[in-house]
Amino acid sequence: MTGTSSSASSASAQHGLTDRLTRWARGFSGKIEDVAEADEEQVPPSRVDNAGLNREINRRRKLYQEIGDFLFAHDLDLTPLNFGVAHDYLTGANIGVEKAIRAVLMERGKITNGWVETLTTEQRSDEVTPESLATMLDKVEENLSHFTGLVQESRDSAKDYGAALQEQAKDLASTHDSEPILARLVNLTRSMVEKTRQVETQLRENQKQTHALKSSLECARHAAEHDHLTGLPNRRAFETVLRDEVILAQNNDEPLNVAFCDIDHFKQVNDAHGHDTGDRVLKFVAGLLAKISDDHCHVARHGGEEFVMLLRGKTAAQACELVDSVREDLATRSLVNRASGERMERVSFSAGIANVLGYDDPRTALKAADRALYLAKEHGRNRVYLAAEHD
Ligand code: GH3
Ligand code: MG
Ligand code: MG
Repeated sequence: MTGTSSSASSASAQHGLTDRLTRWARGFSGKIEDVAEADEEQVPPSRVDNAGLNREINRRRKLYQEIGDFLFAHDLDLTPLNFGVAHDYLTGANIGVEKAIRAVLMERGKITNGWVETLTTEQRSDEVTPESLATMLDKVEENLSHFTGLVQESRDSAKDYGAALQEQAKDLASTHDSEPILARLVNLTRSMVEKTRQVETQLRENQKQTHALKSSLECARHAAEHDHLTGLPNRRAFETVLRDEVILAQNNDEPLNVAFCDIDHFKQVNDAHGHDTGDRVLKFVAGLLAKISDDHCHVARHGGEEFVMLLRGKTAAQACELVDSVREDLATRSLVNRASGERMERVSFSAGIANVLGYDDPRTALKAADRALYLAKEHGRNRVYLAAEHD
């Protein structure tokens, strides 16, 4: 076999792709949680007033108590899985879990360890899991090595054919009886044509599989970066956009602002009209925010009933004005519960905005926007607050 350098470069291209896909796949293993934990640690205690701190401590204590009561009431083992599900149910952090538990409680009043396990397996089945990605990566690798093999095979045949042709041409020049040599040449050419045809067929098949894989990977990437309910980019995608936009804003010397928008009293919307209506309200608000998104304004669902926006090229005052216009638009609408035809109470959101480049790092700016949102809630909701830099 020849062509060491080309197979080495194919191999390194293959590794490059594998590395890239592996790195990408790793992004699925809870990176966002890491960020969240890091955020927690970075809250400077001096920035949270004492009353707020006490409220937070009490809220947590109450939540621990409620989780404990829930596990005890259902005879559930003290496992991380059960704890997580109880937490998601009681806080509403995972709407799928919340809905499933409500349904079981209505039906038979109690949940069991086994049921929790089934629920979490089901929840995972429609997600892009590291396992499903690993399968795709295996297929990509298999396809690549098959392709490399085909190319090599085709190159070897062409080389053999060339050598045989040269041999026969030499014989042809030195003999008077050219007929048998010509016959051999024709045979050689025929077998070369046949070989080429076979390689072509296999390459076509390989190409088809590669296309199918490419679209599976695109779907997986889309699912991993978008929120199922609203279709908006999710928090993971937002983290990437944030990194890119910070660099762009710095390079172009443009302002960059981040806004957190959280629907007011959304729990009451769910309680009064049911989760399905709540979902529709979420989609509606997402649609209003998405309307103002463009290359300079990115909107994502940060989680639950909270959205995050990144606005480049607008001053903080202009960013506030824009977000406030959406707030006003929403707050002045009369929404109707499609299921019952009932008019709903007004839906509004509160927002906190911070100038990303005014802080040492973007994460601190996100914290500042979150604090401004907290103040907007404290001061009556349905309002947009700008974080005072370095407060
Ligand atoms: P606040 O004004 O302080 O933000 O009050 P709130 O009720 O909006 O906030 P809270 O955090 O107490 O409740 C948020 C609720 O949002 C709880 C949860 O059930 C609901 N929620 C989160 N995600 C979804 C979702 O995808 N669909 C629906 N229908 N509800 C959701
Ligand atoms: Mg809310
Ligand atoms: Mg919230």
